[in-house]
Amino acid sequence: MSAAAAVAKQRKCWCGEASLASFSPDYLECRACGTLVSRVGLTMDEVAVTDDDCDFYGKTYWLGHQTDQLGLPDISQRARADLPERCMHWLRTMLRYKPPPARVLEVGCSHGGFVALLRSLGYDATGLELSPWVVEFARRTFDVPMLLGPVEDQDLPDRSFDAIVLNDVVEHLLEPMATLQRCSSLLKDDGVLVIQMPSYPEGQTYDDLLTRQHRFLLVMDGQSRQHLHLFSRRAAERLFDRLGFPEREFLAPLFDYDMYLVASRQPLMPNGVEQLATPLATSPSGRMTLAWVDLLMRFEVCEEDRAARLKIIHDLQGQVCEGAAAYRRLTTFPGFRAWRQVPRWLLIALRRLGRAA
Ligand SMILES: [Zn+2]
Repeated sequence: MSAAAAVAKQRKCWCGEASLASFSPDYLECRACGTLVSRVGLTMDEVAVTDDDCDFYGKTYWLGHQTDQLGLPDISQRARADLPERCMHWLRTMLRYKPPPARVLEVGCSHGGFVALLRSLGYDATGLELSPWVVEFARRTFDVPMLLGPVEDQDLPDRSFDAIVLNDVVEHLLEPMATLQRCSSLLKDDGVLVIQMPSYPEGQTYDDLLTRQHRFLLVMDGQSRQHLHLFSRRAAERLFDRLGFPEREFLAPLFDYDMYLVASRQPLMPNGVEQLATPLATSPSGRMTLAWVDLLMRFEVCEEDRAARLKIIHDLQGQVCEGAAAYRRLTTFPGFRAWRQVPRWLLIALRRLGRAA
């Protein structure tokens, strides 16, 4: 047995499947459910943060790893940059599916900006992180309540949350089913899970992705130590079926290599703006929330308009390129050069003659 085949035999998919095929230098593929499984990954001990200076998800992950290896801004810069960008995108979903007042837990909340945004709009929101340093950073930066350690270890009452948010978290989980089962037990009967995670474009080989320079490679190549499971849409459907969350809606993700979904045990009933407006207009804090909703809706209209105009520009650009290519082809005809030698006065005279006839 080759070394690669030996590794493939050791690793198991979250779904329990042990027979995994080779996919790329860093990942194996579970064809039973459509998940990419990291060949290396981390152990349970390596995921935990007991020493912020040395452990994988300790202080250096937020200050060094994200900037040096992923080319992302560090946590301090993101505490500002994320608020008007991804946090607003996530807020729109929360308002549609669980308007305030609602009790929310954000697992893996990083700097805590989204928790703060939710709290400012009337949500009872709490964040959770693995690193004591990040927990302290969020408390100091946004003055938000924070929990420290895995969600499985928290002493929280069952069925006490209206929503649990896991943005960019599920792909990091060693045992996604176990963690999501704990989240499920913490949710009320009509509670929702809101999840953003990478979306493996199943059906394409690694060579296909490389040839097309697919943007999914951004979350895949060189990140197999932290991204342990990369779910396809089919795998996500199976995960939530097993979890007992048959109601789900896949929403437009902020980034094209992600999937973004809301899942629940009970039918989802998203609110439109007008449905939100009536209860929100009955209190001062509700009116402030309503102003945010109106602002978000306007932003959405602007974004749609911008996207439509950009499409027109791209279409016109394509037509110009096609026209230029056709002209280049035309100039290769032997008669084309001879035609261009005909004096201009003669062409005008011929055109007039044609009109007169
Ligand atoms: Zn699987």
